[in-house]
Amino acid sequence: MPRTVITGGAGFLGSHLCDRFLAEGHKVICIDNFLTGSPENISHLMERPDFLLIKHDVTNYIYVDGPVDFVLHFASPASPIDYLRLPIQTLKVGALGTHKALGLTKEKQARFLLASTSEVYGDPLVHPQHEKYWGNVNPVGLRGVYDEAKRFAEAMTMAYHRYHGVETRIARIFNTYGPRMRLDDGRALPTFMRQALTGKPITVYGDGLQTRSFAYVSDTVEGIYRLLVSDVTDPVNIGSRDEIAIRAFAEEILTLTGSRSPIVAETLPADDPKSRQPDTTVAETKLGWHPQYTRAEGLELTLAYVRKRLAKNA
Ligand code: NAD
Ligand code: UDP
Repeated sequence: MPRTVITGGAGFLGSHLCDRFLAEGHKVICIDNFLTGSPENISHLMERPDFLLIKHDVTNYIYVDGPVDFVLHFASPASPIDYLRLPIQTLKVGALGTHKALGLTKEKQARFLLASTSEVYGDPLVHPQHEKYWGNVNPVGLRGVYDEAKRFAEAMTMAYHRYHGVETRIARIFNTYGPRMRLDDGRALPTFMRQALTGKPITVYGDGLQTRSFAYVSDTVEGIYRLLVSDVTDPVNIGSRDEIAIRAFAEEILTLTGSRSPIVAETLPADDPKSRQPDTTVAETKLGWHPQYTRAEGLELTLAYVRKRLAKNA
């Protein structure tokens, strides 16, 4: 039975990965300090003999007893409001946390997968973004703490691969949504759904013409799984190609919820990327990966979760 360590396993993506790897017959060791994640995301796993939670800050030395086959490094604040309020922790977990997770991987002669991000492309000058594009990041801007941490993490991953011969994979994950997102994490989708369902104005930043391409969580998890078991060492984009302007996205959510909330314009945050769409040719050709969920299907599933969450909080 393979043993798999998932840092950030109590977060949104991490908890879905815990579910997926358990379903694949792995023993899963989740390491998380609950900085932005929640015990609730993994509460359904706590009684399982094949699941272990270690509460630990991965910027410090990571100790895991026994053999380990895979290490997936997902620990990091990920939503803009989180990494803007936690700038030093974000830099530390991208830099020191990646170093510690790679050290564990080397010690155990395991295989490592880094959760990188479309943010390594910054405000892109190439569209759609393919993996050979080096990006357009402002290192001293507010978002720099996240973007540069991930760029450093990629460089560190490649150094461990080249210098120590560690088996590594790099997933450049684009905007992903689904159940278990925090309703107050500030990202567009949970914010718009919460606002629409509670009759609050929908806050669209700037003119709303900036674009994103939103992937449903099961598709992203499938891409990550396929990448891990592949032999592709170079970074691979994982995300939806279905690009939409943020204002149109807000309107779509209004229609879906039947809400009469008005759309209000708020200031566009500094360095907010103007467009984002992955070129997924590598994932398609080398991993045989194709998204299975349309946005309409993914939004329906997520809306059901958001409704339940709001009812629980009421
Ligand atoms: P999340 O905030 O829900 O999960 C991150 C988890 O990491 C949380 O459980 C948090 O408590 C934990 N964590 C943070 N710092 C830690 C530390 N020092 N030690 C131990 N645990 C720590 O975010 P998410 O959306 O699930 O993102 C997970 C990963 O995927 C991140 O690395 C993020 O950069 C990457 N990613 C996510 C998206 C997306 O759209 N969700 C897109 C690109 C990349
Ligand atoms: N956004 C918005 N209103 C909100 C939250 C976000 O208009 O209440 C915009 C944000 O400025 C960005 C887009 O929606 O242009 C996606 O934001 P999100 O935080 O979801 O992801 P990221 O900027 O990291 O891609």
